[in-house]
Amino acid sequence: MKYLSTRGHAGQPANPEFCDILLGGLAPDGGLYLPETYPQVTRAELDAWRSLSYAELAFVILSKFITDIPAADLKAICDKTYTAEVYRHVRAGDDARDITPVHWLEKDAEGRGRFGLLELSNGPTLAFKDMAMQLLGNLFEYVLAKRGETINILGATSGDTGSAAEYAMRGKQGVRVFMLSPHGRMSPFQQAQMFSLQDPNIFNIAVEGVFDDCQDIVKAVSNDLAFKQRHHIGTVNSINWARLLAQVVYYFAGYIQATESNTQKVSFTVPSGNFGNICAGHVARMMGLPIGRLVAATNENDVLDEFFRTGHYRVRSSRETFETSSPSMDISKASNFERFVFDLVGRDARRTAELFGPALARDGGFRVSPQEFARIAEFGFTSGKSVHADRLATIRDTWRRHGTMIDTHTADGLKVAREHRRPGVPMLVLETALPAKFADTIREAVGIEPPRPAALDGIEALPRRFQVMPVDAEQVKRYIVAHTG
Ligand SMILES: *Cc1c(COP(=O)(O)O)cnc(C)c1O
Repeated sequence: MKYLSTRGHAGQPANPEFCDILLGGLAPDGGLYLPETYPQVTRAELDAWRSLSYAELAFVILSKFITDIPAADLKAICDKTYTAEVYRHVRAGDDARDITPVHWLEKDAEGRGRFGLLELSNGPTLAFKDMAMQLLGNLFEYVLAKRGETINILGATSGDTGSAAEYAMRGKQGVRVFMLSPHGRMSPFQQAQMFSLQDPNIFNIAVEGVFDDCQDIVKAVSNDLAFKQRHHIGTVNSINWARLLAQVVYYFAGYIQATESNTQKVSFTVPSGNFGNICAGHVARMMGLPIGRLVAATNENDVLDEFFRTGHYRVRSSRETFETSSPSMDISKASNFERFVFDLVGRDARRTAELFGPALARDGGFRVSPQEFARIAEFGFTSGKSVHADRLATIRDTWRRHGTMIDTHTADGLKVAREHRRPGVPMLVLETALPAKFADTIREAVGIEPPRPAALDGIEALPRRFQVMPVDAEQVKRYIVAHTG
């Protein structure tokens, strides 16, 4: 399987394979990597996959996209990554061996699930990002060891990416992590999770700005190709193709759990920020998974909802980004969105390059043509928005009616999912974090403390290790140089 860039120039080698792009971030032309074609899944294959474990399912799906790792090695990596020991924080009554169990909130008279949560947050940092990041950690270690190389991972986080990356990479040979986060803007729990790590290969940098500033620094450093090469800079942001690919698997796992036969459809609602998670759903759908709708749920930062309603993508500056109670969705430039738009414009790399290059810089956004807009529905996409009051009401309602506690991001998803249900098509809401991560809002909504896995008790009291820095890419570069010598 070869990969291309959404802007047309994939760099060297001209037709990279998976391992060539695994350690990189953006393509050299500023675009994002995608496979040259989406491999197809036949109905017979999908039937056969119904009996597989999650690790086996991951292996057969990844094998379609990764043709430059020997099968036995890839299988071993999947087995090591997706084990019940790692994803052990499942809800009471659900089975950790399922890795991503479906937790039904509503069933029909025959006992078939209609409306439920796809549990993705049972890993070490209690957010869905573990699903992909744990795989990435094992893939990085494998490929670096084979090549005798090292990597310095530079990332930006508004909370969940950073901790997931650090827990996936801590102690890994040949890997250092430099993680930028907006100073003082993460929840106390998230700060404690990241800053309490004492592993010598983990470096936390608290930037005096918002998440988009952190993301801009990562882009600036990655765009300095000489620096990037000299210091072996890689990223683990959601623009990384391997992360997105790992997320494709659980759409299949969710579909299989929600259906009995492949003639049925399932819709998914995805709490969205950088558009990575839902873009994986798009890939699954392009492979032939019978997905009904893909519903993008946003919070007050509704750039994506505006696009899906109007065809106008209008990014906001960091000053126009609201701080909300679902902070991992406080994003006004969705870094993975280019992948979807590339497909929407018929994989026209020149048009994609124009829209995300000059048009975005000149006009702060773009409008797709009426023909392109019409294709959004063909791709199954729709959207909705949820604000703080909705979030509280949804958390409260789900607790009172179902005895199920959900986090703020999942609540945004659930609120929007209810608006897009169709009779006869099960709807799964992707559970993107556990409520323990956002205790303040849970208390505000239901007046009680969310349960926390015993292993994470008292982490706020642990000693912290982090460096505060202004919004300055050059200073970040100097810090990296000083700590990689
Ligand atoms: C990252 C994150 C999101 C947004 O996911 P994207 O892939 O960026 O769209 C939503 N909820 C939580 C809890 C997250 O950590």
